[in-house]
Amino acid sequence: MDKATPKDLFAANRERAAPLLKQLQADGIGHLIDGRIEPSVSGMSFETRSPVDGAVLATVARGNAEDIDRAATAATRAFKAWRDMPAPMRKKLLHRVADAIEDRADDIAVLECIDTGQAHRFMAKAAIRAAENFRFFADRCAEARDGLNTPSEEHWNISTRVPIGPVGVITPWNTPFMLSTWKIAPALAAGCTVVHKPAEWSPVTADLLAKLVKQAGVPDGVLNTVHGIGEEAGKALTEHPAIKAIGFVGESSTGSAIMAQGAPTLKRVHFELGGKNPVIVFDDADLDRALDAVVFMIYSLNGERCTSSSRLLIQQGIAEKFIEKLTARVKALQVGHPLDPATEIGPLIHERHLAKVCSYFDIARKDGAVIAVGGKPHAGPGGGHYVQPTLVIGAHANMRVAQEEVFGPFLTVIPFRNEAEAIEIANGVQYGLTGYVWTGDMGRALRVADALEAGMIWLNSENVRHLPTPFGGMKSSGIGRDGGDYSFEFYMETKHVSLARGTHKIQKLGI
Ligand code: NAD
Repeated sequence: MDKATPKDLFAANRERAAPLLKQLQADGIGHLIDGRIEPSVSGMSFETRSPVDGAVLATVARGNAEDIDRAATAATRAFKAWRDMPAPMRKKLLHRVADAIEDRADDIAVLECIDTGQAHRFMAKAAIRAAENFRFFADRCAEARDGLNTPSEEHWNISTRVPIGPVGVITPWNTPFMLSTWKIAPALAAGCTVVHKPAEWSPVTADLLAKLVKQAGVPDGVLNTVHGIGEEAGKALTEHPAIKAIGFVGESSTGSAIMAQGAPTLKRVHFELGGKNPVIVFDDADLDRALDAVVFMIYSLNGERCTSSSRLLIQQGIAEKFIEKLTARVKALQVGHPLDPATEIGPLIHERHLAKVCSYFDIARKDGAVIAVGGKPHAGPGGGHYVQPTLVIGAHANMRVAQEEVFGPFLTVIPFRNEAEAIEIANGVQYGLTGYVWTGDMGRALRVADALEAGMIWLNSENVRHLPTPFGGMKSSGIGRDGGDYSFEFYMETKHVSLARGTHKIQKLGI
């Protein structure tokens, strides 16, 4: 049989999406509270539109404090039974969630493309990775409660971990399905119940996730999803006294707001926030591989990626040649319909986000940098929020385009003279999420890794996620780590238990 052409695959993706979108329009999106799909108590709703062509995808329930209260109450009611469920049973249920996600992986991929504008080539595997998140944490259900044995002379001291209680999970619109599972899977594996508030710009696959979790047989009230606006539903979630912790992914300024909102109820918080990540390319690096990684790490996923390397720090001696090759690659990037398998860059999530990204074209020019490629909106299929992939050169470290998170397909190039200067520029921003270093000198690779102020560093590699490793940022990029046991540290309380081994001396008072 002939191999399917990109045209065939594009048509197949459209065909797959069509009935799903029809269904979505007919059903709308409600909250999932205590196992039931419900409208908002207030009856309020909002419309979610596709970034491809502005078409209304669904009417979405707009939750407020009343809906959050109902969800938090359901999560509280469900907590004890979920906490006390034997770990093998919880494990089995979470594997069933993973099975359900895998079964619908192709549907999830096309819906995510239409809802967020992400290209299918990147979304095709997003659901599979989401299922892996569930499997990874399902397999760790039993060890979640493990603690330490630290005996002293007079006492047998042990620690154990217990789930903290019902938790809130607040997620952003970039790769929303996969990202939500990073937070929800470990929380459920730890024995917490969850109220999820997905981003208002991308509610579609969060709705599907809630339904798949229910379908897998996870008891009612264990995962509740309340849709709505950040300042309404999100704020109410962070303020609710029954919610013991908030796992949040989003902008740094929202993280600050959440910290303040959660202060009166002493919320534990875990923040994964913004970034302005450097990729440092030294003159002794494998420049072909470095070029591939530089292009991939800013122009994949529309550049709407917290770990993207949005600043290229390039050693002066190789800058001219490297920029020449980079320019050719950026010019050749394919902007197009997200369901087209040839597309490398789809439309940005929302017109407000498009306006934000485009505002940086003028900012770059005003600061005296040069736009070598792009710098304009792009007339793409459907007339949606497309932008030209953009390359800014002639920048220096304190320009706004070298300091601020643009969160689009927008790369700023900054030359450096030597290792010390590279480190100084790399660290000279408020963020500290990731850093990427390309060099043939392994001593230097480790020295620079040690000096970089970032939570995650890749040497001679693009970002490759390994689930047991710590994921998170320093400075304005976050508080806390996800992944492996680090996630359990957040969703659980460590409890110390001490048993006297014998009849140690107790001071006698009041005799
Ligand atoms: P955002 O902060 O605007 O929104 C994120 C979520 O917070 C949404 O669900 C929103 O409704 C909610 N929210 C907004 N205001 C709130 C409030 N006052 N109280 C409670 N909830 C509130 O972020 P975004 O624009 O959706 O996402 C993009 C940002 O996310 C970027 O800065 C990106 O770097 C960051 N991000 C970070 C990581 C990471 O791992 N560090 C991963 C992905 C995205």
